[in-house]
Amino acid sequence: MSLYFDTEEKKSKSFELPGAKPHYNPDRPGQVNHICLDLVLDIPNQSFQGTCTITLTPVRKGIKQLTLDAVDLDIESVLVDETRQPFDYDGEKIQINLLQPATEEPLHITIAYGVDHPQRGIYFIQPDEHYPDKPTQVWTQGEDEDSRFWFPCFDYPGQLATSEIKVRVPAKYMAVSNGELISAEAVGSDKIYHWYQKQVHPTYLMTLAVGDFAELTDSWQDIPVNYYVEKGREEDGQRSMGKTPRMMEYLSKKYGYSYPYPKYAQVCVDDFIFGGMENTSTTLLTDRCLLDERASIDNRRTESLVLHELAHQWFGDLVVIKHWSHAWIKEGMASYAEVLWTEQEYGQDDAAYYLLNEAKSYLNEDSSRYRRPIVTNIYREAIELYDRHLYEKGACVYHMIRGILGQELFDKAIHTFVNDNAHKTVETIDLLRAIDSATGYNLAGLFDQYVFRGGHPDYKIAYSWDSDSNLAKLTLTQTQAKNNKTGSDSELFDLKIPIGFGYIDNAPQNYTLRIHQQEQSFYFPLEKKPDFISFDVGNYILKTVKLEYPVTELKNQLKYDSDPVFRIYAAQALEKKGGLEVVKALSTSLIEDSFWGVRVEVAKTLGNIKLNQAEEGLVKGLQDKDARVRRAVIEALGNSKTVSSYETIKQCLEKGDASYYAEASAARSLGGMVSGNLKEKQEEAIATLLEILNTRAGWNETVRSGAIGGLSKITTSVTAVDIIIQYTKPGTPQALRLAAIRALGAVSTGQTPEKIAEILEQLESLSGESFFLTQVAVTSALGQMQTPKAISILQKLSAQSPDGRVKRRAEEAISKVQKNIGSDKAVKELREELDKLKKDNQDLKSRLEKLEAKNK
Ligand SMILES: [Zn+2]
Repeated sequence: MSLYFDTEEKKSKSFELPGAKPHYNPDRPGQVNHICLDLVLDIPNQSFQGTCTITLTPVRKGIKQLTLDAVDLDIESVLVDETRQPFDYDGEKIQINLLQPATEEPLHITIAYGVDHPQRGIYFIQPDEHYPDKPTQVWTQGEDEDSRFWFPCFDYPGQLATSEIKVRVPAKYMAVSNGELISAEAVGSDKIYHWYQKQVHPTYLMTLAVGDFAELTDSWQDIPVNYYVEKGREEDGQRSMGKTPRMMEYLSKKYGYSYPYPKYAQVCVDDFIFGGMENTSTTLLTDRCLLDERASIDNRRTESLVLHELAHQWFGDLVVIKHWSHAWIKEGMASYAEVLWTEQEYGQDDAAYYLLNEAKSYLNEDSSRYRRPIVTNIYREAIELYDRHLYEKGACVYHMIRGILGQELFDKAIHTFVNDNAHKTVETIDLLRAIDSATGYNLAGLFDQYVFRGGHPDYKIAYSWDSDSNLAKLTLTQTQAKNNKTGSDSELFDLKIPIGFGYIDNAPQNYTLRIHQQEQSFYFPLEKKPDFISFDVGNYILKTVKLEYPVTELKNQLKYDSDPVFRIYAAQALEKKGGLEVVKALSTSLIEDSFWGVRVEVAKTLGNIKLNQAEEGLVKGLQDKDARVRRAVIEALGNSKTVSSYETIKQCLEKGDASYYAEASAARSLGGMVSGNLKEKQEEAIATLLEILNTRAGWNETVRSGAIGGLSKITTSVTAVDIIIQYTKPGTPQALRLAAIRALGAVSTGQTPEKIAEILEQLESLSGESFFLTQVAVTSALGQMQTPKAISILQKLSAQSPDGRVKRRAEEAISKVQKNIGSDKAVKELREELDKLKKDNQDLKSRLEKLEAKNK
């Protein structure tokens, strides 16, 4: 059941797609004790042969059949304790019909099998005619249910076993896997690597990575810490992963449990389909995370990625989820660990801002895609659960637990949870039990509201001051429940929230309120009128806020509140008020605020205010020493579409910036500006962007992808389409090519029918490529188009893609296109007309504001 509430304007979107159904772990014939793979790789032919031996202790007597997961494997034979057994295989499951019913003695099941050109689970990466420099690599990806594509197994996370992998590869390659290296033995021109993992873990965390890697060695305490990168990228590897030992130290303390495995390896592989994967003791990372020196100026994503996968070694690998429906326990914590690490590495302000962005990312998904309970077993494929609810909302739930318990008890609860459940499987209830056993707190109510049902509270906070009786009045409304036509209270949240009355020169006065009704008013007799008001002191609650405070209090808060999140909220509330006084306060904050995150958000608010003075304020921010602020300023200036801001951005782009991202933003903004009033600049902008495409490749194609993004916004230009199509051709560096494919969608929206047909043709041909990231890019492009022809390509993609994420994205894109078609051409023309009027109005308003300010 979806709890998403439907209103007239906002169509309800359900997480559950047609065909979704409840999922459970299967009945268990016994306990898997050990899994041993013995494989011989034939890399040029993208295949391998080998055996998989599973030791299983039956849980009951008399079992006659065993059913294992095994997809698209060539099964040669099945032996149980060295006796051949009859079996049935349908391409998805092997059913072994035991000659002797099982006793309670362990069974040794040996399956001889092979794999040829696998589509999932194990990936063979090789150079080809278009990409002759691509490295030769083999790597695996088990999560969630793909291990069955490379070995037969009981493939669900409820089964934990020890494991070993013996693999024969050509001697020039290295093979890395879970646990300890027992031996690496040369046999002719080959080498046999033998890895052994003594700690139990689930099948989805078994891994193998083969390649001609450079190995960088480090250590934490006596434990080897190794980084594997393509040869030539050693410095980037050290730069990107070098903090790992310090992170191991930090997390071992934070979780109250020393890093549990005999080594920690990180292997950076080519064409990886995720950012990273936390295979037990052997994390795989995308090689796109490797930073060069310039990228490291303002890229913290790599550091967060490295930390995230490491945190999983405890949350996910040591403490294993019993079923995918509880995956938030590990993903929420790994995402929250990014916040914790940011706090200890960069300070509280950075951590608060990091969390605010995680919350925002969930809130966006909630409003634009669907709302669902974090824990649900109703889906088509488990991979659909890996969304912003699972990661970012999960992180926010951990933060709320910390808010309620306080730092000391939060740590104690986490230590208890990890120590009580090490090398075991858990469900959400086990976390509640650990919190109760360590602290006495029962957080079942919090979990009911935030984990087991969808949504979050949307608060409107109105404040007024009665100077006659020195009374502060607060009226709190839960607006999410307001639209509830059924009149039920299921959407109301019941939480205790601290409120602070802040003073510039004095300590704040804090009160804790229970907010549980649709609308509640509170009166506070205070000695002195407060300078500003803080709702949810400490910002622990996942929520949205709409502040209805007078401008004076908001300006004070922006200037004097020590909490950066409140300063950001104040800036956003001021933006809604608008006016010259507000622009002044925001412009000052953009220059003077001590924290870069506030300056970024203030730049965004200035970008949304349609006054010429806002643009003047913004321009000063271009000198900011922090690249992230410069980037936000450039993006905000892109909104203003005046000749002067166009010239400013063009200059930024020509001059260049220390940051790749700032340059990319300038390129995107430039393209976005040359419509309406600035239409005559189109050709000039295209020439500038083309120049960038010809000269600035750079790290991961960041800047050139920005130029493509800029071109995609010039939707009436045929030249823009022609350039973008050129970059979708094979041979284009992959990151740039994916950006170009995505850009085809946006650029199509103002084109002639002939050009649209050309774009569709190109996307249709691209949709035939099997690479996951290409399919995602094609889906994203088609979803932005405004023609029914896009739908048929999306339908085909959804039907043919083997990936659950592509299927879901394609189906969501179909609804988007349907919606796009609704907005016809007349509406678009009207909108352009309106834009023009708005611009004229802006000039008038700016002049009026100035006059008024003078007369004050
Ligand atoms: Zn994760």
